[in-house]
Amino acid sequence: MKEQRNGLLLVVSGPAGVGKGTLDKALMERNHKIKMSVSATTRAPRPGEIEGVHYFFKTEEEFKTMVERGEFLEYMHVFGSNYYGTPRSFVEQQLANGYDVILEIDVNGAMNVKRSFPDAVLIFITAPSMSEIKSRLIGRGTETMEQVEKRFATAFEEIKMIPHYDYVIVNDVVDVAVHHMEAILEAERCRTARSAFVSEAIEEIGR
Ligand code: 5GP
Repeated sequence: MKEQRNGLLLVVSGPAGVGKGTLDKALMERNHKIKMSVSATTRAPRPGEIEGVHYFFKTEEEFKTMVERGEFLEYMHVFGSNYYGTPRSFVEQQLANGYDVILEIDVNGAMNVKRSFPDAVLIFITAPSMSEIKSRLIGRGTETMEQVEKRFATAFEEIKMIPHYDYVIVNDVVDVAVHHMEAILEAERCRTARSAFVSEAIEEIGR
């Protein structure tokens, strides 16, 4: 009997500034069978952001053409101004090749993914408190005060969606939070419903 499986689709959401990116990166460094999906966006690159690494940066026209061609697994118009979307083909290929794939997307996108991929594992990352979220946003220094206020208001709305997620991780100490993510992955990989071993064993017993 050979254990074979498709990869896990992990959806990671949480308010801006809670350290989702740091946790995803640390998880990938420790687990080599995990790939990160790179989203497309119409927002302008922040200093240090690289095309194809952090995002595929698109004009609104380019983005809309991709929508029309059905190239997105899900897409969303976030923060009233920019489009963000998950390119479909990369995710589907990696899952079929047995790689786990992380989507770092907003709460609405996460709900859409759950509808089309009920097997997806939804993880919500948050900070220990709302005041901590605000100070991390300000400390990041990448947004204007107006943008910080807008994202802070969005954080409230996002937190209301936590009950729809499978897991919540409070990112207080990074190493502990990464350990929680690894524990979730391990447990999800052992689910009977995902195991080729279980169906094969039952079939063999029946023979
Ligand atoms: P940022 O502009 O800070 O990079 O991202 C803003 C928000 O957009 C974050 O909540 C992020 O998770 C979300 N986001 C990034 N890519 C996607 C995507 O492909 N789809 C959706 N629905 N949200 C995304």
